[in-house]
Amino acid sequence: MNANQRKWTHAPGVDVGRVSPPGEMSTCGFCANCGTVHSLGAGNSRKYALELMDQLESHKRLDFLSSSNHHSELIDHKFSTDYLWGNARGQMFGVLECEDANGSTVVLKAFSCQYDGEWLIDGWVPPLLDPQQFYDLIAEPDRQINIRTRALKTMNKSDPEYKKLSDERKALSQQLMKEIHALYHLTNFRGETRALTEILSGNIPMGVGECCAPKLLNHAALNGLKPIGLSEFYWGKENKSGTRRHKEFYPACVEKCQPILGFMLCGLTNLTPLRSRTPRPRSFRL
Ligand SMILES: [Zn+2]
Ligand SMILES: [Zn+2]
Repeated sequence: MNANQRKWTHAPGVDVGRVSPPGEMSTCGFCANCGTVHSLGAGNSRKYALELMDQLESHKRLDFLSSSNHHSELIDHKFSTDYLWGNARGQMFGVLECEDANGSTVVLKAFSCQYDGEWLIDGWVPPLLDPQQFYDLIAEPDRQINIRTRALKTMNKSDPEYKKLSDERKALSQQLMKEIHALYHLTNFRGETRALTEILSGNIPMGVGECCAPKLLNHAALNGLKPIGLSEFYWGKENKSGTRRHKEFYPACVEKCQPILGFMLCGLTNLTPLRSRTPRPRSFRL
């Protein structure tokens, strides 16, 4: 697996099905700053989520908003939704209904993790890290990890070298995860930006910051948009544990999202839409 193929999907061992009860308060988290739980309801976001489902169904690809592919006969299969029905199985998608400074509705949309190895697709909010920084960071450690993986495959477990190499590989992976987590930056509705490693200490589970809710809220906060409602749904072949099924809605997850949503939602109450903090040229409107 080379650097560009590294994919963040569901964290191994994490039961993504263990979720908070459905309802208006499903997107929530405890804010250490305020000493209270901040939350966001669904608003009208389900309507926009159903529209997005229709678009996925009719286009069968994610880059349907990209002008370069609009009239192309040679369809790039990279962004085809066929991917979601293969070995990788389905993925979560989310929409965030927002209000801009003029009171107009803006609908942001996101896919969870990377999509078939891609961080950025036109029309979808970007991740919480800079993809180039990510690729630069992982190139050498990935090479070192792969060298050990290949060597281990040729060795017998009773070989004294085996444990040494195996321990080295584990240490390299753990160090790399820490450095990757430090690349994630989250901005909240008080205008505060923090690295993920400043918000969470200790062992951060893999995949934190990769769900749709944090991506959407971060993008809204950076662009002066006030969130009104959020919905997340699953699209594609059901996951192995059967806790995620095609076209079903799910609340923000307890394991990966609740620990950061308190910080991310802070400042949302009584927020009036502000002018964009970092103007971005690209439009992510549906
Ligand atoms: Zn989540
Ligand atoms: Zn707060």
